[in-house]
Amino acid sequence: MTTEIFSKPLRRTFFVADLKCYMCGSVVGSVESEQPLTAAPHTSRPVLVRQAGSATPTATLNWRHMRCDRCGGPLFLDESDVITRRYEDYNWLDERPRRGPPPKRLIEERRRERELLESQQAA
Ligand SMILES: [Zn+2]
Repeated sequence: MTTEIFSKPLRRTFFVADLKCYMCGSVVGSVESEQPLTAAPHTSRPVLVRQAGSATPTATLNWRHMRCDRCGGPLFLDESDVITRRYEDYNWLDERPRRGPPPKRLIEERRRERELLESQQAA
């Protein structure tokens, strides 16, 4: 059961677009959703909004209620695109050992190698 989950490549389609201001044309951020962004407002689901200068996206129920940071103008979707992301071999157990500093054993091995090399050069 668990190996099935990890070996199966997962494909997810995202609809992405820039959020642009009607009035001044500045890009306020970008939206991304697994549902088409052009869906009728009453059927819209929360989309992820990445605002310019902010690293973390926020779930927004209706981006149409958002306003431009600079002039308060209404926003529209520009440069809409469809992207497919593959979540392949994504395994937390594999990632864990790569994080943090190398184990002490490795540091010790490298130190001994360097000392050996230096003693050979000195000879
Ligand atoms: Zn504006």
